[in-house]
Amino acid sequence: MDASAVTQTLKPGKLFIGGKPSECASGKKIDVMNPATGELLTTVERGEAADADRAVKAARQAFESGPWPKMNASERGKILWRIGELIDKHRDELAMLECLNTGKTLKGAQRGDMKPASDIFYYYAGWARNLHGEVIPVDGPFLNYTLREPVGVVGMITAWNYPMLLAAWKVAPALATGCTCVIKPSELTPLTTLRLAELCQEAGVPDGVVNVVTGYGPEAGEALGRHMDVDKIAFTGSIRSARALLKASGESNLKRLSLELGGKSPNIIFPDADLDTAIPAAFWAIYANKGEVCSAGSRLLLHKDIHDQFLERLVDKAKNMRVGNPLDPKTEMGSQISQAQLDRILGYVKSGVEEGAKLLCGGERDTEGEKAKGFFVKPTVFSGVKPSMKIAQEEIFGPVLAAIEFRDEEEAVSISNGTVYGLVSAVWTRDIQRAHRLARQIKAGVVWINTYNGFDSAAPFGGYKQSGFGREQGMHALESYTQVKSVWVAL
Ligand code: NAD
Repeated sequence: MDASAVTQTLKPGKLFIGGKPSECASGKKIDVMNPATGELLTTVERGEAADADRAVKAARQAFESGPWPKMNASERGKILWRIGELIDKHRDELAMLECLNTGKTLKGAQRGDMKPASDIFYYYAGWARNLHGEVIPVDGPFLNYTLREPVGVVGMITAWNYPMLLAAWKVAPALATGCTCVIKPSELTPLTTLRLAELCQEAGVPDGVVNVVTGYGPEAGEALGRHMDVDKIAFTGSIRSARALLKASGESNLKRLSLELGGKSPNIIFPDADLDTAIPAAFWAIYANKGEVCSAGSRLLLHKDIHDQFLERLVDKAKNMRVGNPLDPKTEMGSQISQAQLDRILGYVKSGVEEGAKLLCGGERDTEGEKAKGFFVKPTVFSGVKPSMKIAQEEIFGPVLAAIEFRDEEEAVSISNGTVYGLVSAVWTRDIQRAHRLARQIKAGVVWINTYNGFDSAAPFGGYKQSGFGREQGMHALESYTQVKSVWVAL
């Protein structure tokens, strides 16, 4: 598909409320940009509290008196399956939109965003009719059983790095359980979420079940967080916004939250690892999606015996990485999302140099040719990083790798667990006992052994510590979209 086929037909995005496009009360707009070229793609509505309130009312009405929660679960399951099919049918268009709006490579958007986005609907289509309660053997002449019921209206707030996929991870389990929702995508990347809502409707989701309010976090997002009639917030984003949402919940109706936050994930390489597999894996662990990945392997922990040879080979690959036009099939890394993100990344590079880490490659903006129009950064590797340095503690969310040397297993675990984060981790070793020992000792929601970035709709994903709580994907995600009712019957 040609990019112009998408850009020429792009209309200004509207809010999607009660099954219809509509305008926001204020009439204000937000520009939606292509970060790789600096070009304006289109505009969307700048939804605020009044618009969020209208969307919540539509979702509440659909939940209380619409057909969705009462529909036979098998019917709901079929509709979810159809959403998956429609995402597959429109995969090229959706991937192109995501590529143009995020600066990620087109091939990355096809494989890493749209393929799992359709799969999550196929996966939860099966769960719709498999959710059930249990019969519990209580004392006395009673029958006790449980009902697993949908929580109600869910506010979904998402980040800009995987806009469609992050929304799909929330919408699919919410729909499977009979919830209704209002999605507030990132103000930077609202386009595929608006398309997702249209596809849900085309698949047969009734009006008001899936609503989208585009807008800024402190306006539309905060309004959902404080709304008295939102039962749950499913959030992906930064710790800063998560704190604001926890506060908003505490000051409003104590709505429940699931939080998918950032990471500073350790990728630990022991000397007995298969280096021919570990080196390319470590490369993609940090540079996939230009490092704008919550699960990025941004701390590379190298045993002293292989430290130098590992880095030499990795740096060689980084220096030869093809950075450029996201539409070119040969491109391996596209543009960062925005000027603000570019400045943030380069600020961290500066702090790494000031704190005494050794810059082995990259560390600067890439302005060669057409790239000057976008926000490209050269793949960056630091060695000699101390665990206390800022670049080893804080999430950079860019193509910057911090390599840290360790002496033994105990030190590797201590460094791994030495940040506020605990999203994912990886251990590379042929020693099976060590691998399983570390799987228990590392405080993270995911441990990959001799692999990196394994994802599947069936496997739970989520964080320990300040990487958040609640799980997405798998059967565990269903828990946060349902509540359990205990029913007593005197016999
Ligand atoms: P962000 O917190 O700035 O924004 C995320 C969303 O929250 C956006 O839609 C934004 O508009 C909204 N928001 C901002 N302030 C808000 C407020 N006060 N109330 C309600 N909503 C508000 O994060 P970002 O910069 O978009 O995304 C990057 C962060 O997301 C990184 O920390 C990254 O690790 C994390 N992330 C986590 C996962 C995961 O699955 N764990 C996945 C992707 C991204």
